[in-house]
Amino acid sequence: MVVKASEKEEEYFARMEFERRKKTMEEEHKRISEGGKRKLKDLHYMRCPKCGMELIELTYKRMKIDECSECKGIWLDAGELDAMAKLEKTGLDKFFSIFTK
Ligand SMILES: [Zn+2]
Repeated sequence: MVVKASEKEEEYFARMEFERRKKTMEEEHKRISEGGKRKLKDLHYMRCPKCGMELIELTYKRMKIDECSECKGIWLDAGELDAMAKLEKTGLDKFFSIFTK
């Protein structure tokens, strides 16, 4: 596959923007106390980041995928997107058929 220079540029700037925002947030996170972090986790753990309702965890091929009980958004933990990308197309089709339509 031939990658155009503009695509590489776009990828580069997206990565730079991500790194800039990540650094800013990491600085902000240092200012939150451990108690504050624990309180935030208690409030948000297994809650949908979009609508705030409970997430339902499904295990498929050793991946734990969370689906929102309300808006049906699907959320992945660190590393799970890489694991999904390694599935064959039939594996992916089976994976998506598990979730409610
Ligand atoms: Zn939701």
